[in-house]
Amino acid sequence: SGSLYVVATPIGNLDDLSPRAARVLGEVALVAAEDTRHTARLLRHLGLSVPMLSLHEHNEAARVDQLDARLAAGEDIALVSDAGTPLISDPGFVLVRELRARGRRIVPLPGPCALVAALSAAGLPTDRFLFQGFLPAKGGGRRSRLEGLAGREETLVFYESPHRIRDTLADLEACFGARRLVLARELTKTFETFLDGTPAALLARLADDPDQARGEFVIMVAGAEPRPDQETAAVEAEALLGALLDE
Ligand code: SAM
Repeated sequence: SGSLYVVATPIGNLDDLSPRAARVLGEVALVAAEDTRHTARLLRHLGLSVPMLSLHEHNEAARVDQLDARLAAGEDIALVSDAGTPLISDPGFVLVRELRARGRRIVPLPGPCALVAALSAAGLPTDRFLFQGFLPAKGGGRRSRLEGLAGREETLVFYESPHRIRDTLADLEACFGARRLVLARELTKTFETFLDGTPAALLARLADDPDQARGEFVIMVAGAEPRPDQETAAVEAEALLGALLDE
C-alpha cells in the first residue's frame, strides 16, 4: 500500500523547502492541504501540478476513510499545512493517529518549524522547553493558563498572532513580572526581528514602533529560577547556623 508523507513547508522563505520535499510533492498522487489555494501557490512556484484535497480541522475526521482507501489502492499522499510542520498547531493529528492505528506507513519529511527556528536563535536555554502552542483566546482562560506555568523551570514557548500580541504581553507581565522574554517575529521573512526584554519593556517598544506588532510571533519566556532542593537548603541552613554560633 501507499505511504502518507508528512511534509514540512516554508514559514516564509520559499528557499527553505527541502529538495526531498520538492521531489516527494512531485511524485505523490495527491496532496492533502490545509488550504488548497495557499498550497497551490507553493506548487506553482515549484512548477508542479498535483491533485489536491482540503484537509482542515473541520473535515479531518471525515477524510480518514477516503484517504485510507487511496493508500490501500497503492497511492502515495502528501500532507501539508499552510506553513511549517503539519500537526504543530496545525491540522493532521487525527489523520495520522487513525492511519497509524490502521497500520499505514507514515513518513515525516522534516523541515521548517517556527518554534524550533525561534529557539535556535533566541539565546534562551533549549535543553528543556515547554511548547504551549496558542494560548486560549479569552483573557480569563489565558491568565489562568499562564498562572499555571509561572513556576515551570523550562523555557516556555508560545505561538501568537498580531491581533493579540499586546494583550498577551500584558498578561505575561501580570503573571511573570519582570521575567526575560524573547519575541521572534517574521522568521525567515524580510522583517525578521528578535526583541529581548521584560514584558513591560517589550510593550513599550511596541508602543514606540507599531510596525513591531505586525506579523507572526513566537514568544519565548525564560523559565523560573530553580528552587533550591531540600538537601541544598538543609546544608545552607546548617552552614548559616554554624556561622551564627561562631559569632
Ligand atoms: N505548523 C507551523 C510550524 O511548524 O511552526 C505553525 C502553524 S500555526 C497555525 C501559525 C503560528 O506559527 C503563527 O501564529 C506564529 O505564532 C507561528 N509562526 C509561523 N510562521 C512564523 C514566522 N515566519 N515567524 C514567526 N512565527 C511564525
